[in-house]
Amino acid sequence: MPKEKSTGLVFDDRYLQHNSNPLRLPMSKQPLPFVEPVDHPSNPRLVERTMKLLGMTGLQDSLIRIPGQRATEDDLLVYHTEWYLEHVRSICASGGGDAGTGAPVSVDSYEVAMHSAGGVKSAVDAVMANQVQQCYALVRPPGHHAMAEKGMGFCVFANVVAAAHDARNSHGLERVLILDWDVHHGNGTQDAFYADPHVMFISVHQDRWFPPEFGWVDQSGTGDGTGYTVNIPLPGGSGNAAYTAAFDEIVTPVVEQFNPELIIISAGQDASAQDPLARMVVTTSGFRMMTRTMQALADRVCDGKLVLAQEGGYSEPYAPYCTLAIFEALLGQETGIEEPLDPDRILQWPAISEVSGDQRAALDRVRAHQAQFWTLD
Ligand SMILES: [Zn+2]
Repeated sequence: MPKEKSTGLVFDDRYLQHNSNPLRLPMSKQPLPFVEPVDHPSNPRLVERTMKLLGMTGLQDSLIRIPGQRATEDDLLVYHTEWYLEHVRSICASGGGDAGTGAPVSVDSYEVAMHSAGGVKSAVDAVMANQVQQCYALVRPPGHHAMAEKGMGFCVFANVVAAAHDARNSHGLERVLILDWDVHHGNGTQDAFYADPHVMFISVHQDRWFPPEFGWVDQSGTGDGTGYTVNIPLPGGSGNAAYTAAFDEIVTPVVEQFNPELIIISAGQDASAQDPLARMVVTTSGFRMMTRTMQALADRVCDGKLVLAQEGGYSEPYAPYCTLAIFEALLGQETGIEEPLDPDRILQWPAISEVSGDQRAALDRVRAHQAQFWTLD
């Protein structure tokens, strides 16, 4: 176990006021994905349950609460347009609707989304001011799909994009890494920094899942940013074993060579084995592994400076436990809470311990492409 680090938590009850329910799943007139009407998958209970778990297990006592700020319009105009901000404001003022394609907003959502973006910025500020070594921003709505002029995939504003710009502009950093392990591709983050060699974007995601036109192996940046976007698309069914290989063989050497001064993780726990919106097989152990790997990298390259921003994760019973595992890894503590899935059955799933042929082929495609830019042994 690594020794305990000072770890911050950004959470604000206002995040619970962003209500996606009025539109259900907006890509369909039908209440998907089930015949019985269900709540929108991106509902406040995910972060609420996570907060309760942190409280019940006592982990919260080890966390330093960092007040979340409200982002300013200028913070968001580093990527979004004035038209888009006004568009979201007017939809919310009219009672709610869709801020783009599948980005439901309710009457309070403009303000809440400003606070969500501000929460991630507060986490960066706290880490850069050495108030804490690492910090988790448990925010909502999420941000990594949001594009300059439209919301997408439950995301309203590009929280992590604004925070990375803050790290560059307010804290003078030359190199920032954004590592996105959400099972969906962080298309907004990729778009924002596609030509920027100062902010590297690495995404590990389910291949051609959402959005299907983003996250391909050969999307690796443009102009000065060529080589600074690293997409690692894995086939559906990939689990702890393939994720471990991706982090060992690709993420670790590329990050060591990029040598960032700050690492920001887009932490969506929807690659979990129980997620209704994806097809991956990552368990709490897998999320622990990814966290420890990134923490060790941060220790080696940037004095442990690590920020995590909540993105997706839609299994109400399971995703909060995955986030709890991340906090355990961050703090170097074990709560003793059992893995909610039957541990004996998990061990029988091939994806937990074996890299299958299609997963190996996918990893090798990434390695072959990225070898143009980085040394991969
Ligand atoms: Zn996601």
